[in-house]
Amino acid sequence: MEDERITSAEVQNPTEEDEELSLRPQTLRQYIGQAQIKHELEVYIAAAKNRKEALDHVLLYGPPGLGKTTLAMVIANEMDVQIRTTSGPAIEKPGDLVALLNELQPGDILFIDEIHRLPKVVEEMLYSAMEDFFVDIVVGQGPTAHPIHFPLPPFTLIGATTRAGLLSAPLRDRFGIVEHMNYYNEEELADIVRRSAGIFNSHIDDQGAHEIASRSRGTPRISNRLLKRVRDFAEVENGGQIDRELVAKSLKLLQVDNRGLDRTDKKVLMTMIELYGGGPVGISTIAANIGEEPDTISEMYEPYLLQIGFLTRTPRGRVVTERAYEHLGLIDQYMNK
Ligand code: ADP
Repeated sequence: MEDERITSAEVQNPTEEDEELSLRPQTLRQYIGQAQIKHELEVYIAAAKNRKEALDHVLLYGPPGLGKTTLAMVIANEMDVQIRTTSGPAIEKPGDLVALLNELQPGDILFIDEIHRLPKVVEEMLYSAMEDFFVDIVVGQGPTAHPIHFPLPPFTLIGATTRAGLLSAPLRDRFGIVEHMNYYNEEELADIVRRSAGIFNSHIDDQGAHEIASRSRGTPRISNRLLKRVRDFAEVENGGQIDRELVAKSLKLLQVDNRGLDRTDKKVLMTMIELYGGGPVGISTIAANIGEEPDTISEMYEPYLLQIGFLTRTPRGRVVTERAYEHLGLIDQYMNK
C-alpha cells in the first residue's frame, strides 16, 4: 500500500498533524458546512450553558478527515471548558480511563477518537461514568480485593468513530446527541480552501479554489493537503499565484484526476471492468486482484466511489456504473457494442 497517498483521508505524518492545528477553525461560526449539525449544536450548547450544566454526551460519526476532532474542539471552545483528547486504542486498561477522568473539572470534555476501538473492560466502565458520573474500581487482589466507589464531576464525553456500526448498543445508547457527518460539497470545500490559503498567506483565485475543491473527495483534510502541494508549484512556477490552470497542471503531475481519483481508484474500477465485465463482484475478489486488503478497499476507496455514484452495491457484489465508464472514457469501448 502507498503510505503517502495524496488522496488519503487519514493523517499521514506528525508534521501534517501539527499543520492541521493551525488550520482548525475555533468557533462554530468559522466551522464551514455541516449546517444542520451546527444549528443543533448551537441550541444544545446555549441550553446547557443557560442551565450551567455539562453538555450531553456527543457521538460524531463519519469518514476520516471530515472534521470530527475539529468539531469537538470547537464545542469545548464554545462551552468555555477544557478538553482532553485521547483515542480508543490508547486507553488500554480501566486504570488509564480513571486517570483521564480524574483530571476533569466540572463541565470539561473528554474526547475519545476511534471510540469503537476501546477495550471491552474500559467500555463497560464508561457506562456508569456517562450515566451517573461514577466508576467502581477494584483495588487489591485475591481475598483482599474490594471495590471503591469513585465519584466524578459532571463531564461531557465526545466520541468519534468512522464505524458507527461497530459500536455496541449499550455504549451508543448513552450518547444523548448523535451526529452523522456528511461529505462536503464543492462550494463548502472551496470556502475551506480559501480560508486555509488566507492562513498560509497564499494567493488563490475563485476558480483555483473550486478546482482544488472538486478534486478533494468531499474531504477537508484532502483539500488542505492538495492546497499545500499546489502552493509549492505556484511558488516555484507561477510567482505564488494559484489559479485553475496551475491546479490542473500540478495535480495532473501528482496523478489526481478532476474528480479526485488516483491510480488505485482507477485500478479498482479497471479491474472490475476488464476482468469481471463491470461486476457484480465482491470486495475480497477485487482486493485480491489488485494486491490490497479488503478492509483497505472498503474503508478507503469504496465510500467515495459510492458517494459519487461510480459504484453501486447489490446483494451479489459491487457494480461499476455508466457514470464511471463515461468518466474513464470507456463508453464506446464497452457499452455501445
Ligand atoms: P477527523 O477528526 O474527522 O478525521 P479533523 O477534525 O482532524 O477530521 O479535520 C481535518 C482537517 O480538516 C483539520 O485540520 C481542519 O482544519 C480541516 N477541517 C475539517 N472540517 C472543517 C470545517 N468544517 N471547516 C474548516 N476546516 C475544516
